[in-house]
Amino acid sequence: LDQARMDKAAQPVAPPVLEGRLIAVSNRVSRPAKGASPGGLAQALSEALRGAQGMWIGWSGDHGESGAELELEKHGDITFGLLDIEATTFHRYYEGYANSVLWPLFHSRAELVERTTGDFAAYTEVNAAFADQVAAIAQPNDIIWVHDYHFLILAEALRERGVDGTIGLFLHIPFPPLEIFRRLPEARTIVRALAAYDTIGVQTRRDAARLAECMAAIGEGAIRTARGGFRVDTFGETVHIAAKPIGTQPEEIRASLAKPRPPEVDAYLRMTADRLTLIGVDRLDYSKGIPNRLRAFERYLRADPSRAATTIFTQIAPLTREGVAAYGAVRQEVERLAGRIIGQFGGFAASPLSLLTRPVDRVGVAHLLAGSDVAMVTPLADGMNLVAKEYVAAQDPNDPGVLILSRYAGAAEDMTDALIVDPADIEGMARAIEAARLMPKGERRERYRSLMGVVERTRIDRWIDACMKDFVAA
Ligand code: ADP
Repeated sequence: LDQARMDKAAQPVAPPVLEGRLIAVSNRVSRPAKGASPGGLAQALSEALRGAQGMWIGWSGDHGESGAELELEKHGDITFGLLDIEATTFHRYYEGYANSVLWPLFHSRAELVERTTGDFAAYTEVNAAFADQVAAIAQPNDIIWVHDYHFLILAEALRERGVDGTIGLFLHIPFPPLEIFRRLPEARTIVRALAAYDTIGVQTRRDAARLAECMAAIGEGAIRTARGGFRVDTFGETVHIAAKPIGTQPEEIRASLAKPRPPEVDAYLRMTADRLTLIGVDRLDYSKGIPNRLRAFERYLRADPSRAATTIFTQIAPLTREGVAAYGAVRQEVERLAGRIIGQFGGFAASPLSLLTRPVDRVGVAHLLAGSDVAMVTPLADGMNLVAKEYVAAQDPNDPGVLILSRYAGAAEDMTDALIVDPADIEGMARAIEAARLMPKGERRERYRSLMGVVERTRIDRWIDACMKDFVAA
């Protein structure tokens, strides 16, 4: 493996060599589909799986009956294993425990947690159903790579079914402080289950420290520093925890930019060529801080209303998780604020704000990012935030735009040369827009070089490589 590493100083990084197969488990899988270009993670994971006779296991997207078998689908070198989950169970596991309890709590929004009796039981049931399937196909040398908060307790269920090979988890979302995690009635159950993983990767050093502290505190264990992170001994197990910041594949963005602009994006960028263009691209999630961003933009316009004619902010925010009440509430707030801004500052034929709550394809998004002077990435909490990295990767090195980045995005731990803001400070964000507008080209280039350095260091193929290295060492 080390020789291989030395040989590949240049890009792209080759998938590492593993003894057994790599079996990835995530709630959703990304199968190659005609016409659609998959995201960076799906592409890179597919690459890693291809190099390791891999399997990718996840929900089929269908409901069917409980107790169904994995349906196997081969695409090239990758075998997809798809599991149906009965509708009520799925709803309680997905909209329920995963997205009404874990998601808000892990994003430090305890006030948005909505607990429903039976949801944790459904979460346990779904984890057990996946464990049955994975245990049935796993061979001794296989490495099982579990993704995200949907499957916190999967490793324990696998151990109970006799799987004793390497099992790793990557948590894509933030890990909360101990005093917040502790509010969970299942806190101890979850920590005990997490101890069944050999290695847990998280997005930031802060998350690694929080998770280690939390596991040691709740499990009455001990923490040591080890291999760039921590080793926690708890519940009779040893878990390695380390930050493995995820990233984007710059080549993928460049490939999108090499394709023609979709007509409506092209028309938009031509029409706004003389204006200061700001862009926001997020799922319409309460964690993304879209209302705060709109308030800051409103304040920026209010400071000098003539700016309305020379500025445009476009927010792409497709609806997401519409079955969860908190999402309806943030949607209403975003629509109300957008309406207020358009009403106050819009003219007959033009408006300083566009809001799209429908999805835009990846090629269109890449061109919008490339063509915008300023990106507003201002989450209240975010595991990493890939849009921040995609924006930088899409810029012209000679005349790059300015990234305004929340200190609460995981990305801010490394991307310190962005304009770092606190989304709670509306006035401060309005000042950041002004600073971005006035920033000289020399400073933009310097910041870009530093930020692009981070984008390159955390490229997704390097991320996969770092995760694989951890599995081999585990
Ligand atoms: P999250 O995983 O919470 O949605 P990230 O920013 O980490 O947030 O990743 C989002 C990914 O989805 C990025 O690759 C981004 O380009 C893409 N994406 C987010 N919002 C949109 C959108 N409105 N339209 C198209 N793609 C989007």
